[in-house]
Amino acid sequence: MAMSDSVLIIDDSDAVRERIIKTLESFDLFARYYEAEDGLEGFKKLLSSPVDIILCDLEMPRIDGFKFLSMLKSRPDLQDVPVIILTGMNDRELKIKGLEQGASDYITKPFDPEELVARVKVHLKIKHLQDDLKRSNELLLELSNTDHLTGLFNRRYLMEALDKELQRCVRKDGYLSLIIMDIDHFKLVNDNYGHLQGDVVLQKVALNLQKELRSYDIAARYGGEEFVAVLPDATLKEAIYVADRVRLSIQGVRFSGSLAPLSITVSLGVATFPAKECSSVDGIIKLADDALYRAKANGRNRVEFVE
Ligand code: GH3
Ligand code: MG
Ligand code: MG
Ligand code: MG
Repeated sequence: MAMSDSVLIIDDSDAVRERIIKTLESFDLFARYYEAEDGLEGFKKLLSSPVDIILCDLEMPRIDGFKFLSMLKSRPDLQDVPVIILTGMNDRELKIKGLEQGASDYITKPFDPEELVARVKVHLKIKHLQDDLKRSNELLLELSNTDHLTGLFNRRYLMEALDKELQRCVRKDGYLSLIIMDIDHFKLVNDNYGHLQGDVVLQKVALNLQKELRSYDIAARYGGEEFVAVLPDATLKEAIYVADRVRLSIQGVRFSGSLAPLSITVSLGVATFPAKECSSVDGIIKLADDALYRAKANGRNRVEFVE
């Protein structure tokens, strides 16, 4: 057990809290001990100092153990903190109800010190395993190739893939086209419908982009509301054709529900390798980006390209 752990003990009896703390201290289990006399005080302490485990009495004045459990459940950030309920000898029904409401375990008062310590250790161990798992999942998500809002590839993957495609294209003496797309006046969508609905629009745009591409093209979310498509072997003419098809497809989307009667447009810039003044990934992105800039300047909802 890490000695950096902290525990919160909620019980309306001073004597019970004191005995629990003495016991846990004698086993050197925790670095910090927090106490509260009822559920409300306990919840407030928890919000100001997160803990690794909670021991909580059931019967207390004002906010009792059950209400405390339901308050805990309403907070996603606190749901993984194990709660061991402290129950009286004959509280069979209460024990069951407590477990059903999210408690991890129970200890019967008057408690046996070694049993208390053993149960606390078990739940601390589970808590630590869960924390580790959560951290690895976050890391995996960060390392993954996909953008989780749209399901398209993310920027990190795009840059790697584009680099490989470009090398392959040079070797084969072939073509490689790149389309950059930016939603027109997207800020207005967020302003008028809210950020969550804005996200729905992003998902729909992503879907329509993907739909117009071939299976070996790469569609990625490049930034907030900017997308990139890499089209291996596509000539400039072919890529312009695809870009315009994407533009029309997105223009044709009719949003429903709370987004009705919204319709949106996109501007696109196209560049094809090989091209003058362009020998790198950054170079071809720059060219397509310049074209996108011209599409915006020339009135939006259009495709511009590098001659
Ligand atoms: P323009 O036609 O010139 O592109 O105008 P615009 O309003 O689209 O301008 P700009 O590209 O500067 O604005 C992008 C907006 O996209 C600003 C930002 O709040 C929003 N945005 C970026 N990422 C996200 C996201 O993940 N979700 C949502 N809902 N909005 C986002
Ligand atoms: Mg009590
Ligand atoms: Mg933008
Ligand atoms: Mg925009």
